[in-house]
Amino acid sequence: MIPVWLEWLMESASDSPWSGGTGGVTTSLIGVRAWMWDYECDEILPPVFGLLPRFNDPPWVTPKAVAACISGCNSPPNEMCECGIYALLKGGKVSYLVHFLETESSVFPYLFGLVRLWGRAMVGELGVRAQFAEALGVVLPDDVSPWELPKPWRRVPSLTRSEATQLRASGVSAEEWLIYES
Ligand SMILES: [Zn+2]
Repeated sequence: MIPVWLEWLMESASDSPWSGGTGGVTTSLIGVRAWMWDYECDEILPPVFGLLPRFNDPPWVTPKAVAACISGCNSPPNEMCECGIYALLKGGKVSYLVHFLETESSVFPYLFGLVRLWGRAMVGELGVRAQFAEALGVVLPDDVSPWELPKPWRRVPSLTRSEATQLRASGVSAEEWLIYES
């Protein structure tokens, strides 16, 4: 089951410029992704599968991120590697994001949101790995206030999952919400 608020985010993602295979593109795309909010360390991190970070991207100290590689390749994202900042484009496998939601813990809740991606990007069937990214807007768990997030993240437009569900029911897209917020 894909929650309504997640569908709402996916509807505002860019269409994939690639119908299949992998390609390097230099462009600006809008994607959807998740972050884990490590409340105890006051950090926004890539989500985890089990105990392992699923995504190879670095901690997001600010809402802007530059790809880095833990395997040490020179130019993330690299075709031979798994590095880069991950996001899903329209039509991508939302089941990955739903999995995060199903394994979400109350200690480390997940944020989901729209990101602008640019620079060099590898587009494949699982989504896109980009060189640069910026969080444009985030959907928070219903019991989280934006004022609890790490300071640099408090300026990112945010709303709760319930509010996003209501907006979609009123026919307001995530893009329209972002225009209104900024
Ligand atoms: Zn790499």
